[in-house]
Amino acid sequence: MKRIYNFSAGPAVLPESVLRQAAAEMLDYQGHGLSVMEMSHRSKVYQSIIDAAEADLRKLLNVPANYKILFLQGGGTTQFAMVPMNLMKNRVGDYIITGHWAQKAYDEALLFGKANIIASSKDDKFSYIPDLDNLNVSPDADYVFMCDNNTIFGTKYKKYPDVKGKILVNDASSSFLSEPMDVTKFGLIFAGAQKNVGPAGVTIVIIRDDLLEIPPLPGTPTLLQYKVHADNGSMYNTPPAYGVYICGLVFKWLLDNGGLDAMQAYNEKKAALIYDYLDASKLFKGTVRHDSRSLMNVCFRTPDAALDDLFMAEAKKQGFDNLKGHRSVGGMRASIYNAMPIEGVAALVEFMKKFEQAHI
Ligand SMILES: *Cc1c(COP(=O)(O)O)cnc(C)c1O
Repeated sequence: MKRIYNFSAGPAVLPESVLRQAAAEMLDYQGHGLSVMEMSHRSKVYQSIIDAAEADLRKLLNVPANYKILFLQGGGTTQFAMVPMNLMKNRVGDYIITGHWAQKAYDEALLFGKANIIASSKDDKFSYIPDLDNLNVSPDADYVFMCDNNTIFGTKYKKYPDVKGKILVNDASSSFLSEPMDVTKFGLIFAGAQKNVGPAGVTIVIIRDDLLEIPPLPGTPTLLQYKVHADNGSMYNTPPAYGVYICGLVFKWLLDNGGLDAMQAYNEKKAALIYDYLDASKLFKGTVRHDSRSLMNVCFRTPDAALDDLFMAEAKKQGFDNLKGHRSVGGMRASIYNAMPIEGVAALVEFMKKFEQAHI
């Protein structure tokens, strides 16, 4: 068996030890004689799995007692609708547009009410996080929506906006658990698991409990109401049971490896390896403004799209895969989530240096 260095933006690399444990427990989960995939979600043993996942996530992120943790389905994209359906009391949402996903969230909000763009970095191809000091928050806004880490463009907020007492909603799909996060700054945080914490099919929502008292818009389906999931411990219907188990193993892996402070230090070290090289390279250039660089998704290119293609083809032969940038950006993107070992990043940089020598 030879595993590649997988730089996919999502679904993405998972810790090898987690995959090994899942494999070892596949046929017989801890002596119960069945796989987690085959268990009733109403069984005691499954309840202990989801309870442990929640408790470990609460510990990792320091989630205060007045926030509920939900394990849902439907991906980040369903959250683009659930947020307005559940929070748009006055039918007004303010949006900070920092890329593709924030734009999608905004487009979806227009189905339900008024959505205002209060900041955007579209003028320079979403290559930076806009200035947030004097945000023009609408007086009647029900919430302000932001996307923490812009998976496609490779940008990340370094501080959070002052939203003048409004509810701040954060799509943290691609930065979730990559570093500590002050949950109390947000009314609601959501993250699709498949970027940094587990398999596709699980969406984690962390919601302040007072928001559960806001009446959803008329006609909101039962399954799209946060309160229904909160009141039922994420078991109103069948949860993404196996996916939650894998997320739980990843949470344990994070705790065993020093938690999110240690993860942040590791991720900063990994990102510096590649950004420092990009700053020095005469062939490859980073596409993002320095003050907005993501630790998770590193976007770069050569001056020539054909050379980009050659680079990716040669990289693939050496075991570095899924480096293609999103079709809306072009070039390359190395996603270096928590589970990407520093050896993988170092090896990629060495390969880039060799490629540069051969092609400059
Ligand atoms: C991938 C991604 C999404 C979309 O997630 P789906 O699970 O495909 O719906 C939303 N927001 C961000 C920031 C993402 O990276």
